[in-house]
Amino acid sequence: MLASRISNRNIFRFNNDISSLDVFISNCKEKWYTILEPTEGIGMPLNIQIFYHICLLYKGFIVLFQKIFHIASSLLVLIRSRLVSRTHNVVYDFASKRKIAMQVGIIGGGIGGVALASVLRQKQIACRVFERAPAFGEIGAGVQMTPNAVKIIRALGLMAQMEAISFTPHAVLGRNWKSGRVMWRTPLMETCQKLYGAPFLHVHRADLHDIFVRQLSPDDVVFGARCTGIRHEGDKAVALFEDGSTFKADVIVGADGIHSAVRTALFGQEAARFTGHMCWRAVVPCNGVVDYVSPDSSFWLGPAAHVVTYYIRRGNAINIVAVSEAPHWVDESWTLPSSREELMATFAGWHPNLQRLFSQVGDVFKWGLFDRDPLSAWSKGRVTLLGDAAHPMLPFLSQGAAMAIEDAYVLGNALAAAGAEKALAFYEAERRPRTARVQLEARKRGETYHLSSRFDVWKRDLSYLVRGLINPQKTGLKADWVYDYDATAVHMPITA
Ligand SMILES: Cc1cc2nc3c(=O)[nH]c(=O)nc-3n(C[C@H](O)[C@H](O)[C@H](O)COP(=O)(O)OP(=O)(O)OC[C@H]3O[C@@H](n4cnc5c(N)ncnc54)[C@H](O)[C@@H]3O)c2cc1C
Repeated sequence: MLASRISNRNIFRFNNDISSLDVFISNCKEKWYTILEPTEGIGMPLNIQIFYHICLLYKGFIVLFQKIFHIASSLLVLIRSRLVSRTHNVVYDFASKRKIAMQVGIIGGGIGGVALASVLRQKQIACRVFERAPAFGEIGAGVQMTPNAVKIIRALGLMAQMEAISFTPHAVLGRNWKSGRVMWRTPLMETCQKLYGAPFLHVHRADLHDIFVRQLSPDDVVFGARCTGIRHEGDKAVALFEDGSTFKADVIVGADGIHSAVRTALFGQEAARFTGHMCWRAVVPCNGVVDYVSPDSSFWLGPAAHVVTYYIRRGNAINIVAVSEAPHWVDESWTLPSSREELMATFAGWHPNLQRLFSQVGDVFKWGLFDRDPLSAWSKGRVTLLGDAAHPMLPFLSQGAAMAIEDAYVLGNALAAAGAEKALAFYEAERRPRTARVQLEARKRGETYHLSSRFDVWKRDLSYLVRGLINPQKTGLKADWVYDYDATAVHMPITA
């Protein structure tokens, strides 16, 4: 700040000098002219010529000094803000040119919540995660980490850990539910790094969650803390908990999932919409790749249902997601224990390889799939939403966790670059359009996967074939625009 004040004052004086010099120089040129073009007109008297040259030289020096001062003062501001944020746990607001001690409260310790805490920790911003469960316990299921999410994991320096727990699929395959015929093949292993700048990886949810948790210290997380409401106190936000305790912070982030209490506190109660889909999830352990499950992400498309299978844990387990349409959800709860028998009965008649895989399932859970329409706002005052709390979506583009991780990276960086209100406004403006598009596209995919009429199925499969012949990256999921996005290249303008 001091440096910029000094440089501003000097630049002001230099600017005055320069304008008077400029007047003098142009007067010289007008009256006696020919120093620059000696053949035209009469030459200047010698003493004026010498003075004229001295002025030109002086002007050159002033311009040079101005440039050096500009560069030096910007460097000083940058170095100072870095030092301040490293040593005192504060961020520097470039707009108000003030340092701000920042404390962030995160409600919910799912993948989105712990990803944000990891980003904030790296930025030296104090944060605390409040999780209603007594301990972390991610469900036994896999998750596809598409290149857009992997770019962030790499930017956080977690790539080696990610590679140690993941499986790299060869391709995404679209298969006929009964015959197993491949309808499309989008290569992944050999193309993703080249086309989108990062690989496509499959992981177990608990392993991914654990990578983020390992970036935190035990004091960063409070378990058994169920948030019941939010209030504002001046320029602070306060989270209220079931046991009567409160937590005051500069920013509160609701990362508390689809049934978010923070969202209700901000925008009122609105039930999530049952989408008419039920979903079974299970993980089958194996000793490396087996001959009846190819090393791909296989989408088996059938009438009013589809199944996705892929390897996780470096090929030592197979994840199953089996979705079937149902007019009503059967229970108040949205997750229920199910059984191998129920899974096999629902998908009776499907390809023998799937039946063989289903017959080995141990624990299996049944989910009702809910979503919401995109919200027109995520934040109020010092409180905002992230992940499923902000944009719950159907899993048909495999993007819910990926979007939560993108949110976390953009929000964490914005908070490190500016004061709370500007950061929240930037975060929302950057993230809402993208997540809304993904939410709506995921819904559409459900319709195409589950077509029942023979003619519609024939038309769809033909279009997969034609698109695959033209460009295999643009067939099937048609998700290259999702994978292309790079949250690590999104920067809040420092003057915003
Ligand atoms: C079948 C299926 C398959 C999927 N496959 C993929 C995939 O391949 N790729 C992908 O990217 N995504 C996938 N997803 C989506 C992904 O699982 C979610 O979008 C993601 O987990 C959302 O993370 P989150 O942190 O926002 O919310 P959650 O994971 O729901 O975490 C919310 C956390 O908040 C806690 N909490 C809730 N209420 C409170 C409260 N009041 N107070 C304190 N704590 C609270 C909860 O206990 C929980 O720990 C899939 C989803 C489903 C259903």
